[in-house]
Amino acid sequence: MASTFRRPTTIPFVVSRQGEEAVTVDYLEADEYGLHYVDETALDRDSERVLWARCTFNLTNDGDLRGRPDFASLHPFRQRACMEKLLCQVCVPRVKNLPTTNELGTLFIVPPGVEKEYGLEGAVTSHPPLCVPHAQQSMRECPHLAKGAQAVRARKPQLWGVHGVVYKKRDDGLAPIEKLSSAIPYGNPVLPWMLASQMYMRLGGVTVVDLETEASRASNHVPATFSRR
Ligand SMILES: [Zn+2]
Repeated sequence: MASTFRRPTTIPFVVSRQGEEAVTVDYLEADEYGLHYVDETALDRDSERVLWARCTFNLTNDGDLRGRPDFASLHPFRQRACMEKLLCQVCVPRVKNLPTTNELGTLFIVPPGVEKEYGLEGAVTSHPPLCVPHAQQSMRECPHLAKGAQAVRARKPQLWGVHGVVYKKRDDGLAPIEKLSSAIPYGNPVLPWMLASQMYMRLGGVTVVDLETEASRASNHVPATFSRR
């Protein structure tokens, strides 16, 4: 049966591109307090002091992202930036960022599995916010979201935790011991030994919203510059 979903027409800012690679392990060390990079900078840790996996950027000379998108994989730095700054995960910040937040809070799409596990109030998600046009586009083009995803606004979105790989110090160096199947909340004692690759947000003060109603009220639109190259 032919799919009723459109092929993606836009490459979201957060997705990984061909040619972007992890560059972490050669620079990783540990002491009694946990992991650190030999040449660590402020960008290597999030606001809760968790260390993040490093990944290259595949950019043109003009600073635009390039390379075939891997829609199933998110670039760690870009995913984290969208969460920390409440940016639309699809909009390209260098070009334009449409607002994700109004008087009801910040817009998220909660996938069906997440709602079942947590409910909408207090849902924990690794999907960064969206602007209204890109939330509509995601609902139209993503078959997974069609199975009961909800558009919500959260008045109190709160950084909740991270997902990644836990390392152990051995006589011959560091070794990954575990890629955890679920995210770990901030404050957990294992986090100093984790290299994070995705950030999770807990949605508080949730209101279910209708995207069509929001779109008809808004005057913003998807600029032509977002079309696939
Ligand atoms: Zn957007």
